This record gives sequence, C-alpha cells and structure tokens, in this order.
Amino acid sequence: MSDKILKKATLNLKKAVPLMMKHQIPATPSNYALWYLYVDDQNPELNAAIDEIISEYDTVPTTSSQILYQNHIASQEELDVKSMRHSLEAMATELSQTMTDTGSDTNAFQSSIDKNFAKLNRIEEDGIPLEQVLGLVRNLIDDAASIRQSTDFFNSQLGKAQAEIENLKNQLKETEKEALYDALTGALNRRAFDADFKDLFDSSPEGLCIILADIDHFKAFNDNYGHVLGDQVLKIVAKRINEACRDGAKAYRIGGEEFAIICPKSNLRSARHLAESVRRAIEKLSLKDRRSNQRIDNITSSFGVAEYNVVSKSRAIVDAADTQLYEAKRLGRNRVMPIVS
Ligand code: GH3
Ligand code: MG
Ligand code: MG
Repeated sequence: MSDKILKKATLNLKKAVPLMMKHQIPATPSNYALWYLYVDDQNPELNAAIDEIISEYDTVPTTSSQILYQNHIASQEELDVKSMRHSLEAMATELSQTMTDTGSDTNAFQSSIDKNFAKLNRIEEDGIPLEQVLGLVRNLIDDAASIRQSTDFFNSQLGKAQAEIENLKNQLKETEKEALYDALTGALNRRAFDADFKDLFDSSPEGLCIILADIDHFKAFNDNYGHVLGDQVLKIVAKRINEACRDGAKAYRIGGEEFAIICPKSNLRSARHLAESVRRAIEKLSLKDRRSNQRIDNITSSFGVAEYNVVSKSRAIVDAADTQLYEAKRLGRNRVMPIVS
C-alpha cells in the first residue's frame, strides 16, 4: 500500500470515526468498513441508503448495517466457481475483511482478485490441472498477506485517531461546562443567568426584576419549515432581545425558546415597559425561509415579569415571573403580564 493511499485511508477513517460516534454506531470491523466507504463517497447508492436510515433513526440499527454490508460490500466478493466454492468463499470472506480492515487500495486488489477468479472460472471449462489452481490461490493469499502487513500500522493509526477524538470530546465537554455563552445564538446561557442572578440577589436585590420570555408556538416553525429555520428564528430573536436591553439589563437564553432578562435596580413598571418594547420588536421581525421561499413574519412571544420583594426568596422572583408568563400564554400569547404595575 502506497503512502498516498494510506494517507487517504487514515483521513477517511478520521472522518468516519466521529460520524460513527455521533450516530452511536458500534465499532465493529464491518461498521468501520461501511462508514469508511460512506465518507469515501464513491458509492452513491450506499450513501443514499445510509442517509435515509440516519434521517429516520438517527443511527443505523444493527440489522440495517448487516444488510448494507451484505449488499454493498460482501456481494462484491461473491464467488461462483463450483469446484472451489467452499474454500474460496472462506478465503474471500477473510480477504474482504482484511481489505476493509486496512482500507487498502481496493481497486488494485480487486483487479488482482478478478484476474485470478477469471482464471479460476476457466478451470471448469478448460480443465486446468490442480497445481495451477493452487498457484492461483497462492497468488491471492500472497496479496492478502501483504495487505495484512499494513493492517497493524493501520490499526495503530485507528487507535491514535480514536484517542485523539476522545481527547477532543473531553476538552469540548470541559469548555462547555465553563462557557457562559450559548453556542447557537451567542447569547448568555442558563449557567450565566444562574450566576448573575445569584450575584445580584445576594448583593443588591432591591428593585431586581426578572423578565421571562417564551416564543409563541415555536414548535410550529420547526414543524412547518424545519429545524434549520427554527434555529434561525432563535438567532434573530436572541439578537433583537439583546439589542433592546438597556439600563444595565442583560438577556440570556435559558432554554430552547426561552429567554430571560435580568433588570438590576429597576422596578416592575420599568421592567414591564422593557418587556413590552421587546415584545413589539419581536413582533416586527421578518425573515425569509430559503427552502420554501416564504416570508416568516408571524413571530410573537409572551412575557412574564416579576420584581423582588423583601419577603421573597431568590427562587420566588423567577417563579413569579414564570407564573405571569404562563398567564400570558393562557390569555392568548403575544403579551406581557402582569398588566398593571
Ligand atoms: P407555546 O406557545 O405554548 O410556548 O408553544 P411552543 O410550541 O413554543 O412550546 P413547546 O414547548 O411545545 O415547544 C418548544 C419547541 O422548541 C420544541 C422544541 O423542539 C423546540 N426547540 C427547543 N430548542 C430548540 C433549538 O435549539 N432549535 C430548534 N430549531 N428548536 C428548538
Ligand atoms: Mg417553552
Ligand atoms: Mg414556546
């Protein structure tokens, strides 16, 4: 196996492994073979089949993997030489295993197999002597052996790639834990909200107000236009909420389509006023869905506002705002509650 091919094999594998992890594919040799071929992108039928299964299940169930393997990999080595059938079949299975394990230059190897099998086919017709048959088989075994040598190297590369990926995954987890920003919208996240809220509550709770906002019927955007559009709506709403904040107010994305604004040293009336202006800003939003070419300008959200009072425990402000938000939903959405301050 040449250097170039090995590089490509390793590269493919580095692409395949994270995909397999993402879709929770068990690390078996045949699954490696399948996903290796998938990222190699040379077999559109196989790729379409995998894409379809993934879109349905988010993973490839074991039975589907087996069927894919049989249809797209194993069958290439199917033999039909009557006299040698059994022994050759066993060998072919091993060859294909070695081939797929190494991710070797299947083309060159395949043509060698084809050539030898073509000769084997002639055995039946021409009655070639047994020594010659054995010679052909030996050719095949030699080819397999040379490929097997690269298997060890390949496996060690695989091990390294996996360790590398494991390492990256752990690093990612760590940074996620420390991060205060939400990756999708760039807004401050729930962790930041909890921290800031606690700080303000402990230091200067007087006039502290919480606004909770929840996009109305957000599920419908996902259902009607897809998740990508849903994400776009979240981004643009987050941006608008952020822009509307003033007087030290800060916005956070605290859940899927739920946002919070902390208003320090404020009062219910001012906070209500801020919520109302955010509500109107969101109502005016308009974006185009590239897929359906439709304009989306019916984004609304509901708001619940609450102010610190001396008797309330820290959690009580958030709970009170949540109760008001619920009330805003119940009364028909696209509104700020409570109405009077
Ligand atoms: P309501 O007016 O009562 O709030 O209705 P709703 O549809 O907004 O509320 P529901 O809680 O039923 O649905 C929220 C949806 O938000 C469900 C979930 O799939 C979606 N969602 C949560 N996080 C994300 C995200 O990051 N991206 C996208 N696209 N959708 C998300
Ligand atoms: Mg919600
Ligand atoms: Mg909602």
